Amino acid sequence: MNKPVEVQTLPHWIGGKPVASTSGRSGEVTNPATGAVTKRVPFATAAEVDAAVKAAQAALPAWRDAPPLRRARVMQKFLALLQENQEPLARLITEEHGKTLPDALGEVQRGIEVVEFACGVPHLLKGEHSENVGTRVDTHTVRQPVGVCAGITPFNFPAMVPMWMYPVAIACGNTFILKISEKVPSASMRAAELFKQAGLPDGVFNVVHGDKEAVDAILAHPGIGAVTFVGSTPIAKYIYETCARHGKRVQALGGAKNHAVVLPDADLEFTTDALIGAAYGSAGERCMAISAVVAVGAVADPLVDLIKKKCQAVKVGPGHAEGVDMGPLVTRQHRDKVKSYVDLGVKEGAKLVADGRGLVVKGHEDGFFLGTTLFDDVKPGMKIYQDEIFGPVLIVLRVPTIEDAIALVNANPYANGTAIFTESGGAARRFENEIQVGMVGINVPIPVPVAYYSFGGWKASLFGDLHVHGVEGVKFYTRTKVVTTRWPHQDTPAPGGFSMPTLG
Ligand code: NAD
Repeated sequence: MNKPVEVQTLPHWIGGKPVASTSGRSGEVTNPATGAVTKRVPFATAAEVDAAVKAAQAALPAWRDAPPLRRARVMQKFLALLQENQEPLARLITEEHGKTLPDALGEVQRGIEVVEFACGVPHLLKGEHSENVGTRVDTHTVRQPVGVCAGITPFNFPAMVPMWMYPVAIACGNTFILKISEKVPSASMRAAELFKQAGLPDGVFNVVHGDKEAVDAILAHPGIGAVTFVGSTPIAKYIYETCARHGKRVQALGGAKNHAVVLPDADLEFTTDALIGAAYGSAGERCMAISAVVAVGAVADPLVDLIKKKCQAVKVGPGHAEGVDMGPLVTRQHRDKVKSYVDLGVKEGAKLVADGRGLVVKGHEDGFFLGTTLFDDVKPGMKIYQDEIFGPVLIVLRVPTIEDAIALVNANPYANGTAIFTESGGAARRFENEIQVGMVGINVPIPVPVAYYSFGGWKASLFGDLHVHGVEGVKFYTRTKVVTTRWPHQDTPAPGGFSMPTLG
């Protein structure tokens, strides 16, 4: 057991400076590779959330009115600082989340790409203009910020998921409150410092820590106009419904069960290499992880054999160590929950092909490790198929035809990402057309869109209309105003009248 040691309690970041919490409630942050408690996070009270809203409201008028080009220049400096600090940020992620350092570097890179996208905000905010919608009447649109926006984020991408939100919101002229996951707080606290260093005015970006109490205070606060949530489906649904009740604009991204359909003509080496990374990378704790393989026809036996061989070769260890493919899970509680799904799968009658439960990482016996696990012959009625396990557990379902595979994927309530592996253009096109999922990969296992496209699933994977970042992110964080203009002129037709105006 680890000896209890004095650990730092993190402050919130409000009004451009660290602010100690007085809530008296807090949670532990652990290093998943060692099991040691490394920090504490305070759980904000409603009054602390209110202080963050007040700081964001105070900063809003000047920031909203700053020319977009000036806002973009702050973003460019932030971009440069993030690039300089990419490795230390990644190290913070590995220390608190457990993912490997190269994977954490990749996460920061994908976040940086959203900041790069946000640097183009002057172009993105351009409106439309139509001359002569009536005689000497013109119409144009402007995109204006919503006001104070909030983001509530999950543990699995401590830097990237928050960066799906706040760079776009802030570039559009909003101010922002981030309620970061209480399990992985440090990377976003560091980002807040870097943003200040880049010249961001105090109060434009605020970070509060907390649990349900802080989240509920955000959802109910009349000073917050828009909320973006990313996390599990039950909480996403709750956020969506609560925000709607409070009249807030909301997008709430939920959980996933991402299927990879493998057709008999797929290149097996290529496919299994892709599946191994997609299923076990980041210990399966990715919302776009492949967690279910749908093997079509005769491909099943050779496919399962090859996945088994490759998954047993995955090197598991602490995320900062050289040559490690997969780190630990985020907390002991989560590791135990994932492990309990392996027990359940055995009870449900699925065939356990590779069992990660016995794994011991030498020198890290208190770490939250679980080895790569593979089930075959899984049926749609089993809980290990129906639930999002969110760990290094890959399941294989067998179906006879592509029609059955498409029907299976479409019947699943989750619809974040999916992929097909095939050499057939016709089959791939049909899959793309018929599949009811928000993000589709063709021989690409994790089809996460780049920053200048938008990210989002369908069905129980996203509540709301608009996806995050890209043009949809700009739409979410702005309100459109339509202006109709007429200037009196000697031969302008007389205004008014009692009937609806018509064209001409
Ligand atoms: P979570 O839903 O437990 O927590 C997400 C956020 O909600 C955290 O900030 C947490 O403090 C807060 N929260 C937790 N319980 C709450 C409650 N009862 N009331 C109000 N707020 C609450 O999710 P997690 O475990 O941190 O993250 C993993 C989940 O996130 C997985 O389901 C994963 O699929 C999902 N995820 C989805 C996407 C996507 O793009 N769709 C991306 C990343 C993660």
